[in-house]
Amino acid sequence: MKKSKITTTGWNLDNSYTILPQSFFTKLNPTPVKSPKLVVLNHSLASYLGLDIEELQSDEGIKILAGNILLDTFTPIAQAYAGHQFGSFTMLGDGRAILLGEQITPKGERFDIQLKGSGRTPYSRRGDGKATLGPMLREYIISEAMYALGIETTRSLAVVKTGELVYRDTFLPGAVLSRVASSHIRVGTFQYASKYRPKDELQKLADYTIERHYPYIQDNDDKYLLFLKEVIKRQAKLISKWMLVGFIHGVMNTDNMTISGETIDYGPCAFMDTYNTETVFSSIDTFGRYAYGKQPIIAKWNLSKFAETLLPLLNEDQDKSVKMTEDSLSEFDKLYKSNWISGMKSKLGIFNEEPNDETLINKLLKIMQNNGADYTNTFVDLIFKKPEELSLYKDSEFVKWYNLWKTRLIRQEENNEKTIQLMKKSNPAVIPRNHRVEEALEAAVKNGDLSFMEKLLNVLMNPYEHTQEQTEYSKTPPPSFCSYKTFCGT
Ligand code: AMP
Ligand code: MG
Repeated sequence: MKKSKITTTGWNLDNSYTILPQSFFTKLNPTPVKSPKLVVLNHSLASYLGLDIEELQSDEGIKILAGNILLDTFTPIAQAYAGHQFGSFTMLGDGRAILLGEQITPKGERFDIQLKGSGRTPYSRRGDGKATLGPMLREYIISEAMYALGIETTRSLAVVKTGELVYRDTFLPGAVLSRVASSHIRVGTFQYASKYRPKDELQKLADYTIERHYPYIQDNDDKYLLFLKEVIKRQAKLISKWMLVGFIHGVMNTDNMTISGETIDYGPCAFMDTYNTETVFSSIDTFGRYAYGKQPIIAKWNLSKFAETLLPLLNEDQDKSVKMTEDSLSEFDKLYKSNWISGMKSKLGIFNEEPNDETLINKLLKIMQNNGADYTNTFVDLIFKKPEELSLYKDSEFVKWYNLWKTRLIRQEENNEKTIQLMKKSNPAVIPRNHRVEEALEAAVKNGDLSFMEKLLNVLMNPYEHTQEQTEYSKTPPPSFCSYKTFCGT
């Protein structure tokens, strides 16, 4: 494939990852697609990245987003990684994604630009290297919704239809998603290095990752221990944010956990409607390994796998290294809990601290679970409705709880107005509800009608606004959606 000389689209790609030993990647161009058509382009993200929106929408611009044209500065690679999938260790790698390089933004920040669905690679195993339109649009919607909710995440720049059909039980339209991430380095990347590569390569990966994501610790004598602690800290914060908005990742394999602390790989993920800690949407998660309520435990398990990879770098004495990782991992529970309690308190409008706050929070959650209450709307209703208008009011336990909560609020300095402000900015009016996401995807994929998706995205972009036009999107799903399942089928 020819490399084009155009540079006017603002593409400004570096490729620092390729200074790592060659075992960490394979240089490889994306497979050109038949007839690329732009389906959706993220204008604000494009501008942020320093890209020219007009030119991105031109023939050449779209071809770049499809992988059909490469610029001089691009050094396309597929990254090597391994991972525990549902608990079993496997060699993986970018089986259907190509990293074009790292865009340096006008502000000087660095973001990976990856094309997902761009053809087979040496890591494809038996896969076809392709992606289909529905799941790529799904990743676009959910990742952008997460971003708007203030949750660290990879983002979506564009989805391009390929003009090819891809076989998944039936023929579906093919697509390429351009994914933007602060990096694609995963727990699984370290597992790959630790299992298959010599110590010096593992160390190079660690040094590179520290410099890229945790530069403030790189001059420390015990930087690898600090690195572990920082990753634990970021993940504890991230998972608490998922839990606070009712997000279920669905496939928290170690290859789907980033070292940067961003949410990655939107496969069978979904937001919970009815509050139930056992909620699972993914059709492949038969045993509920990745159920809503299990996410903190699984995150800690994944981090223990990450910690294992760092053992040779921590101390020459293996026992000392093990002790260091155990001590660091034991911090996860405390960090997670303090993030979560602080977030929950904000959701309830609580500013100060009292010993019984956790009990108060858990009581409400228990009442919600017993009554099958909608997770998001329960909190929003507490802001706007009178107690007797609340659907939970019929439960005497809730009435007791409500009075406890109200008297708790009186015991803080902040007035009612401040409390309401805090609750508004801590409780989204809208989340990407499954029935709305499905509605938008069906219209886009079956009828080529993007209007549903555009409207949905528009509403999701300001989740904390609490406007009238959001009301329609805050409605709970019809009963037919109760057994909703998501499919990894990518
Ligand atoms: P995921 O479930 O998206 O986290 O993917 C797990 C692994 O399977 C990664 O190594 C992917 O690159 C690979 N993979 C998923 N779908 C395909 C596909 N259609 N072709 C090749 N590899 C794939
Ligand atoms: Mg993955």
